[in-house]
Amino acid sequence: MTDITLVTGDGIGPEIAEATRRCIDATGADINWLIKEAGIDVMERTGTPLPDDTLEAIRKTGTALKAPITTPVGTGFRSINVHLRQTLDLYACLRPCKSYEGVRSRYSDIDLVVVRENTEDCYAGVEFQRGKDDTDELISWVNKHSEKQVRGNSGITIKPISVEGSERIVQFAFDYARKLGRKKVTSVHKANIMKFTDGLWLDVSREVAKKNSDIEFEDRIVDNMCMQLIQKPELYDVLVLPNLYGDIISDLCAGLVGGLGVAPGGNIGEKGAIFEATHGSAPKYKGQNKVNPTALILSGVLMLRHMGKKAEADNLENAVAAVIAEGKSVTYDMKPDRDDPTAVGTSQMADAIIEKIKT
Ligand code: NAD
Repeated sequence: MTDITLVTGDGIGPEIAEATRRCIDATGADINWLIKEAGIDVMERTGTPLPDDTLEAIRKTGTALKAPITTPVGTGFRSINVHLRQTLDLYACLRPCKSYEGVRSRYSDIDLVVVRENTEDCYAGVEFQRGKDDTDELISWVNKHSEKQVRGNSGITIKPISVEGSERIVQFAFDYARKLGRKKVTSVHKANIMKFTDGLWLDVSREVAKKNSDIEFEDRIVDNMCMQLIQKPELYDVLVLPNLYGDIISDLCAGLVGGLGVAPGGNIGEKGAIFEATHGSAPKYKGQNKVNPTALILSGVLMLRHMGKKAEADNLENAVAAVIAEGKSVTYDMKPDRDDPTAVGTSQMADAIIEKIKT
């Protein structure tokens, strides 16, 4: 048996976590689940949104499946999702985007993998607020040392891109491509404009590509990449991107395959991996047994592959694909008309998937 932490989250989290756990267990993956809480529900009871024993369990098992967690806007706690990624140094965000027959979308044959750097870039959190003394000091320093001048009343976000950070994520993309039998890695950047950050990223990408010459490599400028993905998505395979472009392009690719309901993800590092749906906790649907469990179940498929349980992963993915293709036992959001009375609940969709799993 393998120990895995299941973080049940809040909002719709507990319902889709339970549906996903049942589907994974039905594959015979032989998992001993450590079921742990995080989010606003446990916060109301215990005063903390991330109890120590949840973080400890994730550290101990190394791998976790996590349902969504609410991040209150304005007041309240900071994002637990970001905190977990930073604490465990989960530097690679993996977002496969694949068309499944039966999901309504403008495209029918997409099979892309987005590998996003998760720790650097404008998302590193190094920011200076307009009008603060530190910011004024920074602007004076820049204006003294740079030919280009920054206006005095600016806010500033620093964009760090390091050699180490770029190397490990590009290598991750090649390793993933090789493991999954994929043919090509495309490194995405804006090196023509940001020569010292994206330029460094591109140089490192080319160096790493030389050491992985069994897999085709190319690079694309991010704006051109957006257009190409809309016009000729079939030309692309694995995309590797710095944090900000990765965030944007992964949503674009999720849009190509039918949106949030079918967008799985994983955050992976040397110390561990957390698999989670791209969507959030959709609080208005909490406790209604209504929402689509597919994205978290497909995140479970990614987790099984990461654990080396390929047969179980394929079995579960095929079962999900079969239920979606039939279009009968699916949730409201997968019906042509969202008010379709034949839509089933979260738990019933999981039952239909379990029925399709080959034992
Ligand atoms: P959301 O993804 O929770 O919901 C947006 C809308 O998408 C919902 O109203 C619903 O119509 C639809 N939707 C989402 N998941 C669905 C599903 N499984 N089945 C059917 N329909 C679904 O986005 P939001 O409303 O912007 O965020 C709600 C909360 O979730 C926020 O606090 C946000 O910070 C948090 N969040 C958490 C994560 C995470 O845990 N990784 C990710 C994104 C957002």
